[in-house]
Amino acid sequence: MTRIAMLGLGAMGSELARVQLEGGASVAVWNRTPGKAPSLDALGATRAATPDDAIRDADLVVVCLSNDDATRAVLDPLATRLRGKTLVNLTNGTPAQARRMARWASDHDVRYVDGGIMATPEMIGAPHALVLYAGDAAAFEQHRDVLARFGAPRFVGDDPGRAALLDLALLTGMCGLFAGALQAIAMARHGGVAAEEFAGLLVPWLHAMNGLVPAIATSVDTRRFEGGSSLAMQVLALDNLIEASRESGTDTTLLTTMQGWMRACVDAGHGADDLGRLIDVIRPVS
Ligand code: NDP
Repeated sequence: MTRIAMLGLGAMGSELARVQLEGGASVAVWNRTPGKAPSLDALGATRAATPDDAIRDADLVVVCLSNDDATRAVLDPLATRLRGKTLVNLTNGTPAQARRMARWASDHDVRYVDGGIMATPEMIGAPHALVLYAGDAAAFEQHRDVLARFGAPRFVGDDPGRAALLDLALLTGMCGLFAGALQAIAMARHGGVAAEEFAGLLVPWLHAMNGLVPAIATSVDTRRFEGGSSLAMQVLALDNLIEASRESGTDTTLLTTMQGWMRACVDAGHGADDLGRLIDVIRPVS
């Protein structure tokens, strides 16, 4: 049986520990503030007083803390004691942080797998909870079945920064979705439509618009930007969105940003192209 050390029992770490215990694993848990997640005790968790105690007998060390600073503060003093173990870092971080952690692990003969959790704590353990992994492929394969208890594991490459990159890119897409949804809700509420009622219109609309993303992706990859609604048309339509947004007293930053990207493309002579062309403004070709 794999012996697991779980460092961090916040909202996410406590769920990660729970599914391992329910799956029959032996789990030693540590949290900076003692006594967190008391329900884990009845499931058989071993409480460790220090991170050192938690990892002593573990083959697999899983860390899930607030950020990279916290992770390094906890792991740095453990470097020599982690030798030969597999470290799975599920703390959210940047690709550069993941690569730096991988170099640190390699310097100390620690097998390093970096992870990105694409799920909320309530989803942990469900098949639709996606967890991205990158780094030491052999270590990942060895522990794949154990990691699968967190949610569907997907190994995305040997570059230890790749899971973090994809994680943050996916979260960026989510930010756009939620920011747009909240802006739309604010405008609807100004017109006397309650948020819940409006959501009944908004959600199917966003589902339908999601269906356009694959075509946009193809246009970006192939650099063929014809076929969709023209930017020349859309840049004018944005005038109406921005004016209505102002009239409703809502912040126009999202809309003026989008219109600015469109206008730059139109001014560069790409008014007949579709939305995919915005990629050249968002990330200019070097
Ligand atoms: P919480 O705020 O609930 O927990 C944070 C954890 O980090 C606690 O265990 C806290 O300990 C610990 N911690 C913070 N600073 C230090 C430090 N300096 N030294 C030691 N321990 C420290 O966060 P979550 O559990 O929700 O998130 C953990 C990670 O998971 C984050 O990187 C987050 O981005 C990621 N994540 C979270 C999701 C979510 O929906 N919650 C979704 C996907 C990823 P203490 O109890 O003592 O404060």
